[in-house]
Amino acid sequence: MRLHATDRVYPDNATNAVTGAIRWNAAKSLWLFLMIGGGFAAITLTPSWGGFLVFLGTTAVTICAGHSVGMHRLLIHKAFQTPKWLEYTLVWLGTLVGMAGPFGMIKAHDMRDWHQRQTVCPPHPSHDAGFWRDAWWQLHCQFVLDHPPRFQIEPEIANDRIYQWMERNWMAQQLFVAVPLFMLGGLGLVLWGVCLRVAVSLIGHWMVGHFAHKSGQQGWYVKGLPVQGYNLPGLGLITFGENWHSNHHAFPHSARLGIEAGQTDPGYWFIKILETLGLAHSVLGPHDQPERDGLTRIEPGRNRSCMAGLNGACN
Ligand SMILES: [Zn+2]
Ligand SMILES: [Zn+2]
Repeated sequence: MRLHATDRVYPDNATNAVTGAIRWNAAKSLWLFLMIGGGFAAITLTPSWGGFLVFLGTTAVTICAGHSVGMHRLLIHKAFQTPKWLEYTLVWLGTLVGMAGPFGMIKAHDMRDWHQRQTVCPPHPSHDAGFWRDAWWQLHCQFVLDHPPRFQIEPEIANDRIYQWMERNWMAQQLFVAVPLFMLGGLGLVLWGVCLRVAVSLIGHWMVGHFAHKSGQQGWYVKGLPVQGYNLPGLGLITFGENWHSNHHAFPHSARLGIEAGQTDPGYWFIKILETLGLAHSVLGPHDQPERDGLTRIEPGRNRSCMAGLNGACN
């Protein structure tokens, strides 16, 4: 079976993209339980409108400016450019989501993407499991290949001292939020602004990934691949545009995820504001790079929810 390479993933003759094991990741699992426990305590022991507003505000900033714009569209896909100080700020806000550091995020994203571009994709990176099993797999475990490909982050990111610092201390970065919140409103505010926010962000991120690889609306699909992305209409505002996942599979380099009429994409609005302020340039649209092999348009109104391996049957 011929394995394809991507920008950061290089298979060799010994690489096998399928055989491996799904293993419990203790640190990831305990971190999530701690955050869920703290979030539960926020709601039951220290309910307050102030806490709720802190939760909403910190979640919006870290998920939109940090996760979607900084980590995903800027660091991982290089879909636009910013001054270095702003790039660091946006990626740091993405680290505050509490999922991983910059290198961990790049690796998780690109390994999944690499798996999804092969002829056969194992069940873990394709979310090929029911709701609860996939929750266990994605939120508490990791998929470890017996013979993984070489994974290499470009030196300008991998050797960057600031990114190395964010990566080393990604869990401890929460102190930059927790300490000011504690001084402002005590432990209760920390439970709302750190624990509940991180718990909701991690679970929400997994749920979008789960449903966006199952079924839904598609504007395009990529012929010949076992895993397709689907749009989840109606979730634009709360996912900041990350719900347009069929579009993202079609045009991974695009800074704009909601590319068709009516597709709400607050992450892109934010990039456009940065551009207007002179803080972003080279903002890539869907047609600013060559089309992916096999990219096929699906006419609006026609829903296609063919699952893995059935592409030939439902084209
Ligand atoms: Zn995907
Ligand atoms: Zn992506």
